[in-house]
Amino acid sequence: MADIIQLLPESIANQIAAGEVIQRPASVIKELLENSIDAGSTEIEIILKDSGKSLIQVVDNGKGMSETDARLSFERHATSKIREAADLFKINTMGFRGEALASIASIAHVELKTRTEDKDVGTRIVINGSAIETQEICQTPRGTSIAVKNLFFNVPARRNFLKTDATELSKILEEFKRIALIKPEIFFKVYHNGTELYYLPSSNIRQRVVSIFGKKYNEKLLPVQEETDAFSVQGFVGQADSAKKSRGEQYLFVNERFIKSNYLNHAIRLAYGDLLTKDVHPFYVLNLSIEPSQIDINVHPTKHEIKFQEERIVYNFLNVAIKHALGKYSLRPMIDFEAERQFQHVQSAIGGGSGQQEFSKPRKQEIDKWSSLYDEIKENQLAATDDTIYRSAATEESSLHSSFDKIKSKPFQIHSNYIVHQIKSGFVLIHQCYAHERILYEQYKNCLSEGQGNAQKLLFPITINYTPERYTLLINMVDELNHLGYEIENFGENSIIVHATPAEMDENSTEETLDRFLSSYEENIEFQLGIAENLARSLAKSTSLKKGKRLSEEEMQSIIDKLFACQNPYVNPEGKKAVITYEISEIENLFK
Ligand code: ADP
Ligand code: MG
Repeated sequence: MADIIQLLPESIANQIAAGEVIQRPASVIKELLENSIDAGSTEIEIILKDSGKSLIQVVDNGKGMSETDARLSFERHATSKIREAADLFKINTMGFRGEALASIASIAHVELKTRTEDKDVGTRIVINGSAIETQEICQTPRGTSIAVKNLFFNVPARRNFLKTDATELSKILEEFKRIALIKPEIFFKVYHNGTELYYLPSSNIRQRVVSIFGKKYNEKLLPVQEETDAFSVQGFVGQADSAKKSRGEQYLFVNERFIKSNYLNHAIRLAYGDLLTKDVHPFYVLNLSIEPSQIDINVHPTKHEIKFQEERIVYNFLNVAIKHALGKYSLRPMIDFEAERQFQHVQSAIGGGSGQQEFSKPRKQEIDKWSSLYDEIKENQLAATDDTIYRSAATEESSLHSSFDKIKSKPFQIHSNYIVHQIKSGFVLIHQCYAHERILYEQYKNCLSEGQGNAQKLLFPITINYTPERYTLLINMVDELNHLGYEIENFGENSIIVHATPAEMDENSTEETLDRFLSSYEENIEFQLGIAENLARSLAKSTSLKKGKRLSEEEMQSIIDKLFACQNPYVNPEGKKAVITYEISEIENLFK
């Protein structure tokens, strides 16, 4: 048989990469701004036309590029930011994959003008869909100007997928804010169709917040400032009475990089406690500084997600920092005493330490010991002997794991939607849908990163016909789905054949499940979660237990066991509470 495997032409490889990195005009803004910042710019101007669909131009006064670098910058994996693999673990630039410019150039008309300090003339390059049209010498100020015109001119599917001008513009401005807020020292100007939208001279974070969100924010901001040897957090949170119904105004940065984390958002929110009603969201702009080697930012190309080595400790730390900021520790001496006592417990339990440090200031070595202690306790069920050992002052919740004691009471279900389960200090109320979503989500995530899901063959394979959009979407992630236990074959002409489904799924509703899954996936696209994350979330959502499902005792017990074996049992993948703890003492109080 003749050889049939061929290497993809570079331009097509770039277009494929672009699918991941550049979803819409807002992604272009993000990449270009990050590059300008990495180049040390102090002034950056953004010029937009038609919500970025016709033009996105970023002009900076950074260090510029030499003629050779200008040409090389459009090559895939061309980056000045990494020289060796070890650099990956100490990244402190915003970009480093070297794929943004190559991707952008493969799906737009791009004009680059750039000049370095030491040269009198600069370089101009015009590149259309990866093909260099012009490269010449030009007159241009020091720095770099990149104009991206007619985005997706050669990818109609993408272009048609874009939302209304108003939506795309607001997405661009959202990306812009995620950068402007954390780089207040940089002077930014933004123009859209000739109108000035932002004019933000160099300032500090507080002033920047006020000039972006309005004067009335000024008196609502509470400063946050907390530091240990291992990490620190700075920024502002809004007073409880300024919280809003929409979730938008929450900005968490790690080492000045915007991230999304439902888990850490929960830590912040929890610090407000009763100060907030259920349906409102507090404002915050916070920057967490952590040793770069303690985190993994390389998880996803758009890098909104991040992995911490010590996620639970970061959670506690943030929670305490916000409580301090909110003045919740006005009873400070007492609380500190309490915290210290508990910290001593922790230290004596790990066999060392002077017990001198405050709870909020563990030293780095302690953090390691401390977190291994958590794990040990979880494993050995040592827990039941004294649960103050691992109850931190910060999270009542972290003790939950271990509060399951030897009392074996039977869980029961109420309203066909909640599981009530007794624990030593009271009881927990579990939301069966959210809990099950969490369990499946972690299971799918683990399966995608390692292992292979179990498949069950269908007796009769089913053929499903989709709209071209859905078909394309599905085909794009067919490898991942098959990894989870599906066996889906591309049948062409917008059709697929399903030969097998993951073992735990109801084979009679394969088509409905896939429909629900695709709808949820589509809804999540705007959050730019990346395939694996979105897939795990959406599939968990579409296959989880539904409200109204009656459960047997074994089923309930299995949910409880699996939930508390999860990395983060407390919330569903979207951050909704999956478990609520009721302390018996609180309940006793209700009867007074
Ligand atoms: P990355 O940022 O991941 O390195 P990019 O494709 O975004 O990859 O950029 C490629 C390279 O082009 C960068 O590493 C940098 O050397 C150069 N570059 C891009 N934009 C600018 C800019 N505005 N000023 C100076 N150099 C730039
Ligand atoms: Mg970059």
